[in-house]
Amino acid sequence: MDEKNMYVKCEEARIPEYCMPVCPLSTKISDYLAGKNIRLYTHQAKAFDLVSRGKNVIITTPTASGKTLAYSLPVMEKLMQIPNATALFIYPTKALTRDQLIFFTEIDSALHARTKPAIYDGDTQQELRPKIRANSRIILTNMYELHQILAWRAKWGDFWANLSVIVIDEAHRYRGVFGSNTALLLRRLRRVCNFYDAEPQFILSSATLGDAGSFAETLTGMPSVEISNDGSPRAKRTFRIYAPENKSSISAAAELVRSQINAGMQTLCFTRSRNAAEITAIRCREEKTLGKIASYRGGYRPGERKEIESALKTGNMAGVFSTNALEVGIDVGGLDSVVISGFPGSMISVLQQAGRAGRNGRDAVITFVAGQNPIDQFYARNPEAFFNAPREQAILGTENPYILSSHLLCAAAELPYKPERDRKYFGDIATEIISDLKNKHLVASTSKGFVYCGVENPTQTTPFFGINGKTWSVIFGRTTLETMDESQAYLEAYPGAIIFHQGERYRVEKTDPEHNIIRVVKSSDTYQTRPISTTEITINSREKTTRHNNLLVNYGEVTVSSQILGYSVIEYDQIIAANELTLPPREFTTKACWIIFDEECGIAPEKLPGSLHGAEHVLISAMPHYVLCDRSDIGGVSTPYHCDTVSPTIFIYDGVAGGIGLAEKAVELFPEIVCFAREIVSGCTCENGCPSCIHSPKCGNNNQPLDKLGTLTLLSYLERESGKPLSINNSDVNS
Ligand SMILES: [Zn+2]
Ligand SMILES: [Zn+2]
Repeated sequence: MDEKNMYVKCEEARIPEYCMPVCPLSTKISDYLAGKNIRLYTHQAKAFDLVSRGKNVIITTPTASGKTLAYSLPVMEKLMQIPNATALFIYPTKALTRDQLIFFTEIDSALHARTKPAIYDGDTQQELRPKIRANSRIILTNMYELHQILAWRAKWGDFWANLSVIVIDEAHRYRGVFGSNTALLLRRLRRVCNFYDAEPQFILSSATLGDAGSFAETLTGMPSVEISNDGSPRAKRTFRIYAPENKSSISAAAELVRSQINAGMQTLCFTRSRNAAEITAIRCREEKTLGKIASYRGGYRPGERKEIESALKTGNMAGVFSTNALEVGIDVGGLDSVVISGFPGSMISVLQQAGRAGRNGRDAVITFVAGQNPIDQFYARNPEAFFNAPREQAILGTENPYILSSHLLCAAAELPYKPERDRKYFGDIATEIISDLKNKHLVASTSKGFVYCGVENPTQTTPFFGINGKTWSVIFGRTTLETMDESQAYLEAYPGAIIFHQGERYRVEKTDPEHNIIRVVKSSDTYQTRPISTTEITINSREKTTRHNNLLVNYGEVTVSSQILGYSVIEYDQIIAANELTLPPREFTTKACWIIFDEECGIAPEKLPGSLHGAEHVLISAMPHYVLCDRSDIGGVSTPYHCDTVSPTIFIYDGVAGGIGLAEKAVELFPEIVCFAREIVSGCTCENGCPSCIHSPKCGNNNQPLDKLGTLTLLSYLERESGKPLSINNSDVNS
């Protein structure tokens, strides 16, 4: 490895800070802690006190800081004091739920708390269900299941009436569309509990977030206190930033993992995409003597994943290449080293991924391998900025009319909907939507309120995975290889597309939209494919215009229509062919912000298309730095003439029908985003634009036209007009 392109920062080990809660611990709990030789860290004691005093809290200390104990102790204390009290623990994955049940079974029997902890999810056998509902005071589940069981209000009446605490683990995962759905689901849950005169407290456990308190408040609808001061000890960590020269980040990461495994270090390598996880694993397996190497990602069958997880834990697996699927959750033990191949989209993810290394007090080595894209290269040039990056804000919206209307249908099926009582859960916009649903004959007005009167079970028709919640199956012969959501299927599984699975290449033969099936065959070709698409946007209404100094940023509703025209065939990063396809367009209504330009922006007309296009790409690259989203959650369109604005215009829109607040947040943070975007372009040493600055891997037009100088002029103009905000750390360490 090239040491000259390596930036190294060591974080010294840290000693623990202990503290006793102010609120008294029961003898049982004190004895339990003493018996296990546990002293509480400061954040655990604080959680105990705040929960005991009835506060809703969000705990944001790092991975492996003892968060489970922090939220379980006060809950166990409550359940021992109040004999009928119940608690609901919600985890993002079934695997994590299984893991946590072991903990609760153990602590319950040690405390003789008689809580009978049990899992209640899609895998729970029918004959066990009534018993669990009747006897278990601690139920572990997930959001999907909660969505289902709320419909059975009467069966669960006793549990809801006694529900005293709701614990949500890995709460930062509930953002974007999933977060918006979750927020409304939790409002439905609160409404049902309130009906039984219960007012459960919320305890959230989360990765470090910007403004975690207000995130918790949006998610749960209740004011929450943040606990962020970590009292746990930490092993020494060596953090390296590596910018490979003359080779791709994928080859560099594979090489690095190989050399670390050869040095006896069990290594987990996180990759940006599913394809990258597969390809790096293939490269690594070329060296036969390394021992077991696997790739891991969502979409794999549960048995397949479980096997990899336990092999990692027992040390039988030398290295694993994973998407962010292994970032959190299931315990795979402490690893010697973590390689982060490509910036995972947020600092939160970086910290979570890094947290996989060096548990149990062992020293940890974490290496970030910068890829050829704007954010990665920015960090490679400004490594200090990597360590001082702002904590992103997790965004979710509770007013998306599409999401809200399906949850209101569920709510009306669970309990008659009374506008005057229920607007405190769903907002004023709900009243409007309910009357719309009445006109569609989906709810009926009765003396008790609005009740659901549709034919189908509303929980079945409420999509929880996205607005259009259809899941597609990728089928090879008779085997289901994996599943995809609708937009992923549209973008990645068109006829002719190459899909990777466990190191094997498959080519899409045909798609069956009626049954949501993608049929694939094995492929021995060595190329990859990338869609060519076109996107058009129309403004439906302008809702507001925000002024930042001299710059006006518009915000409103738009309709986005995109169509895949064909795909490029790529071999060794070169486009070798382009094939046409005839596919129907995909159209959706969403929220967008847009900037309108005039002559004063200083760009000659012939340079305008390339400059606007470049600026659009970089603004989208810069967004995830401030707003917790993937760059695929947002889209952009730029044009030198737009028929609605009659001017050159750049649009940035939420990639989800109805919008979830991303473009809206961008309006607010626009000066910061522009400033960061300008720094990305001005800091890049290339001449005419490159993947590290203005190119976009997702560009539907094969990155044409692009004009780097024009982009820089345009962004500097925007920065000047919007008034320079406090600059982010730009210490130019390498220059
Ligand atoms: Zn460049
Ligand atoms: Zn583009």
